[in-house]
Amino acid sequence: MVDRNSSPPSHLVFTDLDGTLLDHRTYGWKEALAALEYCRKNSVPVILVSSKTRAEMDVLRRELNLSAPFVSENGGGVFFPRETFRDAPTGSSPSENKGLEGSEGLWQWSLGIPYARLIRALSDMRKSLGLSLKGFSEMDVAEISRLTGLHETSAHLAAMREYDEPFIFEGETPDDLKPLHESAAEKGLMVVSGGRFHHLMGNHHKGNAMARVASWYNAQYHLEGHSDPIPTIALGDSPNDFPMLLRADFPVLILSERNFPDLEKKIPNLKKTPYPGPKGWNAAILNILRTSKEKAHA
Ligand SMILES: [Mg+2]
Repeated sequence: MVDRNSSPPSHLVFTDLDGTLLDHRTYGWKEALAALEYCRKNSVPVILVSSKTRAEMDVLRRELNLSAPFVSENGGGVFFPRETFRDAPTGSSPSENKGLEGSEGLWQWSLGIPYARLIRALSDMRKSLGLSLKGFSEMDVAEISRLTGLHETSAHLAAMREYDEPFIFEGETPDDLKPLHESAAEKGLMVVSGGRFHHLMGNHHKGNAMARVASWYNAQYHLEGHSDPIPTIALGDSPNDFPMLLRADFPVLILSERNFPDLEKKIPNLKKTPYPGPKGWNAAILNILRTSKEKAHA
C-alpha cells in the first residue's frame, strides 16, 4: 500500500516485457535480477507495460515478485494488485475477472474499448469490406497455440482478451490494409500491425497509460502540479514503446536487431543499451539509479 506519510519513491520504472525485461527468445530475466533487487530494496516501483493480457501479466508479475500496478494490452487496462493497494484507486473498479488462485484480486482502470465491442466491429468490417478476417475470438486454443508458438496453457492466457482483438488477414501489401484502417477509424478504433497479427483496438497506447499511472503516484504524495514530480524511467525495444520513451525523464532503448536512427532526433536524451534484453535492462537501471543516488548525496 502507498503510505502517504512516507517519502515518494525516487523514480518510477515503466518497462516493456518481451525483448526488454524478458529475453526475446527464452523469456527469461535472470540477467536483470540484480537491478530488480536494487529496485525492491530502494522501493522503486517497477510497472510492467505490455501488449500481453491481464491474465498473462498477473502470472508474470508474481513470478517477478512485483507488487506495483501493471498495464496490459498496449495501454488498454491498468491493474493494481489488491494485496498491495487496499483502497480502490480513484476511478477504478474491482476487476471482473477472477485473479489467480491465492490472489486477492485486482483494481482496474479501463482505458481501452471493451472487447465485446471490438469483436462486433471486426465482424462488421468483414461483412462490409468482404474480406476474410479471422480474430482470436473465433479461434480455439489449439489454433492460437499453433499461430503464436505458445504452449496451450500460455495460449489460453493470451486468449483472455479485454481491450484488443488480434486477427489474421492475408493482405499482400500495406495498401491492402487501407480499407481496414479507414473502416476502423470510422468506428473510433484503430488497426495496428504487429509481427504475427494485426490488432483492432481503441485509440490508446502505452504512453497514455504511463502518464495516468505516473500522475496517480504523484497525487498519492501530493506532488500533482508541482515542478518536481517523481522522475520516470521508461524502457522498451519496439515502436509501440516509443510513446513511453517520449514521455520519460530517462528514456532507454534496449538493443535489438532493429535500428531506429530517427528516434534519437525525437528523443535527444535517449540512452541506448550495449546489450539486448534483461542484460541491457540491468545495466541501464543500475546506472540511472546509482548515478541519481550519488548526485543526491554529493
Ligand atoms: Mg518488446
